[in-house]
Amino acid sequence: MNKGQGPVSRRPISDDITVTEINGQRVLVIQPVISDDAPGPFKNALAIRRATNTTGVCPDCGARRVLPNRAERRAAAKAGLLPMARTVHEGDCGVLCDGDRGAL
Ligand SMILES: [Zn+2]
Repeated sequence: MNKGQGPVSRRPISDDITVTEINGQRVLVIQPVISDDAPGPFKNALAIRRATNTTGVCPDCGARRVLPNRAERRAAAKAGLLPMARTVHEGDCGVLCDGDRGAL
C-alpha cells in the first residue's frame, strides 16, 4: 500500500540492487536485470550500463560518471528527490541501442 510516499511503479519488479562505492561512500545502485531471452544487442547494452553504474566508467566508450554539483543536490533535496549522477556516452557506444539494433 502506498502511504503518500509518491507515485507507485506499475511495472513488474525487474531491477536488482548492487552495493558499490562512489567517492569513498557506499551507495546502492538500482540495476536493470538482463533477461536471458532478450535480444543480443539489448543484453550487451544492459551489461555495459550495469558495468558503468558500478564502476563509474563505461567499458565501451570510456565515458565517466558525473556526480551532481552542490546546486543540483540542493535542488533535488528541495524537490524531495534523490540527486542523480549522469554519464554521457559517445554516440557510437554500445550502451545506446537504437535504430535497427532496437530501442533502449
Ligand atoms: Zn559508453
